[in-house]
Amino acid sequence: MREFIDLRSDTVTRPTPAMRQAMFEAEVGDDVYHEDPSVNRLEALAAEIVGKEAAVFVPTGTMGNQSAIRAHTQRGDEVIVHERSHIVLYEVGGVAQLSGCVTRTISTPNGILDWNRIEPLVRGESDHFNGVALIAVENTHNILGGHVYPQELLNEICDQAHERGIPVHMDGARIFNAATYLGTPPREVAEKVDSVMFCLSKGLGAPVGSMLAGSREFIERARMARKVFGGSMRQAGVLAAAGIVALENSPAGLPRDHKNARFIAESLARVPGISIDPTDVQTNIVIFDVEGTGMTGREVSAKLRERGVLSNAVAPYRMRMLTHYDVTREQCERAMEVMTEVCAGVQVAVGD
Ligand SMILES: *Cc1c(COP(=O)(O)O)cnc(C)c1O
Repeated sequence: MREFIDLRSDTVTRPTPAMRQAMFEAEVGDDVYHEDPSVNRLEALAAEIVGKEAAVFVPTGTMGNQSAIRAHTQRGDEVIVHERSHIVLYEVGGVAQLSGCVTRTISTPNGILDWNRIEPLVRGESDHFNGVALIAVENTHNILGGHVYPQELLNEICDQAHERGIPVHMDGARIFNAATYLGTPPREVAEKVDSVMFCLSKGLGAPVGSMLAGSREFIERARMARKVFGGSMRQAGVLAAAGIVALENSPAGLPRDHKNARFIAESLARVPGISIDPTDVQTNIVIFDVEGTGMTGREVSAKLRERGVLSNAVAPYRMRMLTHYDVTREQCERAMEVMTEVCAGVQVAVGD
């Protein structure tokens, strides 16, 4: 099979030889009895890294978010969340299906919320509604371009929410990318949030799994949610072993991914018909507009694929490229040559 340059997502990374070796050698037990030493180690390590009392290993980021929502809320409660968040757009309406809650959404251009926008939506219980039981932030924000919360902004949201007795959950699928951008450890990024989910299976390269962390009491409730959602696993240590390697080895590679993303953004900015502000690219996600090429995102994406480059259209004229450890700088350079070819070809055809 031909080797594609795969810029669709950082989920496409495959386990490293060190991860496979660790999986092969993993000590295992029945995790539902808390007897899997590898899972126990992973959970302790994850909790320590994000500065929380406890953590639980979940099969997917979606289950991590949904378990958190379930553990923080009662049926009929309101959850404040960005309109373009993963929780709203890509989790099959789980907030409603699994927790019986209603979302109250806020729209901003870059995916970042601030207290000024949240405050007007906050309300307590009355005869007509349960009121707001949870605020969920996404850091980095995926679909609007990998933006990172300025730490003061996030801390203010948490302080204000806590004054009103409302917990804050962070969908930190890419918290390590946020931490890398900010130059601070993940525990500072997550310091004030009550719960945080992060993925092992994205930029960190593990084959499967995410972590949900929070207080010991919260994690007990989240474990019950994981159970009812069907996510309690048995000898999950084979997966946890890869997760441990991911946590120990992978964050060091993220600065390279961010540099590659910036390189892609700067190259795209020079392609006629593509619009993007490279200074807007903070982490490993590059979103750009292709309307000026006269092609839709799907059309551009199909032409790139014919030439060995995989990418995703995320809206009629918007595309997304992600960098990760399975993409080298040479491959980014090649992908940008291909992009220039694809767009140049069309402009000639249009001009004829
Ligand atoms: C990928 C992602 C998730 C969910 O992770 P899965 O493992 O694919 O379920 C949640 N939130 C964000 C922001 C993501 O990018």
